[in-house]
Amino acid sequence: MASTMERHLNVVNPSVSQSHVADLRHPVKCSPVVIDNIVLNGPTVDVHAAESFIHQAMEMIMDEAVKRATNVREKVCEWRSPEQLKDLLDLELRDGGESESKILQRCRDAIRYSVKTTHPRFFNQLYAGMEPYSMVASFITEALKPSLYTYEVAPVFTLMEDAVLRKMIEMIGWEEGDGLFNAGGSMSNMYAVNLARYSHCPDIKEVGLSAAPRLVIFSSQESHYSISKAAALLGIGTKNVYVVPSDKRGKMIPSALEEQIKTAKSEGAVPLMVNATAGTTVLGAFDPIEEIADICEKYNLWLHVDACWGGAALMSKKHKHLLKGIHRANSVAWNPHKMLMACLQCSAFLIRDKTSLLQRCHSAQASYLFQQDKFYDVSYDTGDKSVQCSRKPDAFKFWLMWKALGTRELEQRVDRALAMARYLAQEIKKREGFCLLMEPEYTNVCFWYIPPSLRKLPEGPELWKKLHTVAPVVKERMMKKGSMMVGYQTHRDKPNFFRMVVISPQVSRQDLDFVLDEIHNLGSDGRID
Ligand SMILES: *Cc1c(COP(=O)(O)O)cnc(C)c1O
Repeated sequence: MASTMERHLNVVNPSVSQSHVADLRHPVKCSPVVIDNIVLNGPTVDVHAAESFIHQAMEMIMDEAVKRATNVREKVCEWRSPEQLKDLLDLELRDGGESESKILQRCRDAIRYSVKTTHPRFFNQLYAGMEPYSMVASFITEALKPSLYTYEVAPVFTLMEDAVLRKMIEMIGWEEGDGLFNAGGSMSNMYAVNLARYSHCPDIKEVGLSAAPRLVIFSSQESHYSISKAAALLGIGTKNVYVVPSDKRGKMIPSALEEQIKTAKSEGAVPLMVNATAGTTVLGAFDPIEEIADICEKYNLWLHVDACWGGAALMSKKHKHLLKGIHRANSVAWNPHKMLMACLQCSAFLIRDKTSLLQRCHSAQASYLFQQDKFYDVSYDTGDKSVQCSRKPDAFKFWLMWKALGTRELEQRVDRALAMARYLAQEIKKREGFCLLMEPEYTNVCFWYIPPSLRKLPEGPELWKKLHTVAPVVKERMMKKGSMMVGYQTHRDKPNFFRMVVISPQVSRQDLDFVLDEIHNLGSDGRID
């Protein structure tokens, strides 16, 4: 106890004068209670000092992490090596605390050396851009610190989560459903695997893996690695994820899926679920859900659609055909923090179920949280559906921006991002030295840049080998210059190429032109080969 109090006292900033702290204590008349030489009367934190610090910090956050971070004339990143950065940041935690001005400087430095993922020229990930409403929602939830296990402690956010889930369920095309927001798409995919298995062999919850036969999951070669992770974590085993080949465009081949299911059966294993991807991570390909659903019905398999990236197309009348058949899925993972720009993390896991499967599969009925004799309707205590205990109200970040923008604006953003990707593909085809891997289906635009020195080489292993080194060098140069961030990678047998992703309405045609110009500027000096 004493040590906890001591730690608590150390939190008091030394810049706060002793007399100021004393002012906050209870009237002098009241005799002090002392235990272990520690005065217990009155709080030991200075509320006014805390408020003033937060105020100063908020102004600084506004200037540095919002205005400057999103200013196209500023750098996307100020690159430092890990060694340099360790020196710059003075990371060691010491016995004594520091002054507020020092701490504010530390905040400034943290912002300065962080990558500005909200900058209009950040294209490195499947999320980007600054969404003001979602950001404000994040600030609010950080300030309020609610946890989403019970209505009692998070009444507003419990109802908001429910409202957002209902709307997403409607957009998927289900009449009824259930779901929850959780910490990222990888977790949502893990939930899918766990629910599929639980619905197949409910005994597993109590008696463990011995209740299950060898179960097999089918997922395409283009699918996200989180399916493998889920298989490893849940005791299914990564070798029991059968990799279904995809076609040249990156879409799962349904006939190959059926072959794999037959193979699993012939081995005496039990086919459990198919993971179809709507918007693959690299190519942005959409698996043919309708045909995959037919196969799932035929063999009685759970169909999960990983729409973490491509789910946003459901917002668009023009593009939702990409996910045709998604209403036949048993479960869907959909990340509003990607294309829809909600702040990290915001990931929904949704299931078509009317039987409280989520609750039955995950509940532990902790008696200190989920008392059944509360004075309100305990069906609003939704936390036991989750494998987490504390859980952030991530749905609020999506709810607030959806309220502010309306479905129509969200739809227009998605349509614009896809149109931008088409523009970029057209430009790539027009420009010398640029070569498109394939026409984009979504907003992933994959292409090679071929420096002038390599342009005369005939197509073949020598060119591939040299081309392979181009993207990493251009990437290094763009990072060190801080002008933009675009990802690159290999894929199957292809040499390194760039993957551009368009998401944010902050991005203009001019930014896309800049990306191509800049890649050429950084890569055309003949020093690459
Ligand atoms: C991003 C992504 C995921 C993982 O989502 P996280 O929120 O990053 O964990 C899963 N599947 C696909 C297709 C993705 O693009």
